[in-house]
Amino acid sequence: MIKRLNKLPEGFLNCPAEDLHRIIPDSTLISLEGKRKQPLFLSVLLHGNEPTGLVVAQNILKQYQESELPRAILLFIGNVKAASKGLRRLQDQPDYNRIWLEGKLANESEIHHDIAELLHEMARLSLFASIDIHNNTGINPHYGCVNKLDPQFLNLSRLFSRTMIYFVQPGGVQSKAFSHLCPAVTLECGKVGDEFGIQLATHFVDQV
Ligand SMILES: [Zn+2]
Repeated sequence: MIKRLNKLPEGFLNCPAEDLHRIIPDSTLISLEGKRKQPLFLSVLLHGNEPTGLVVAQNILKQYQESELPRAILLFIGNVKAASKGLRRLQDQPDYNRIWLEGKLANESEIHHDIAELLHEMARLSLFASIDIHNNTGINPHYGCVNKLDPQFLNLSRLFSRTMIYFVQPGGVQSKAFSHLCPAVTLECGKVGDEFGIQLATHFVDQV
């Protein structure tokens, strides 16, 4: 079972990715209420060495610390264990952005099973949108990735960047799984520590 929380744990807002394991030992879904009830699914740290998503989530939550969130958020914190070591994944773990599967592969490991269960549960909710935030290793423009050529998806991605990538392979990618549930996008926010990427993504999530 993916761990669940209904409020932010003490110290979350200022905790760097490598120390997060001290307050959140493993993958966790944090449900936060907001003015509009249809939740935004936000996933960060699927890759432990890509901290921009966590910083963006912290920026947004700090911004609304003294007021109600404009919309409910389901914040999924991915590979906390790999983040503690500054790695994409640990040697004995699968890639956390290839495990979003239902069906026959869903029983391959405990995390596959937990994610399949989570996807089932998410399918019963009416999600507003899904955003999964990553960094890349090379010098690239900031861009969004979509897995459906649907105007809702393209408009969502265009709010982040005019540069977009459309792909359908590999399977098991978060945004692909969520593309069956709601408009979904993966943000590629440049290299780790790219301040402009953090600003763009924070502004984007706030707009959504
Ligand atoms: Zn990544």
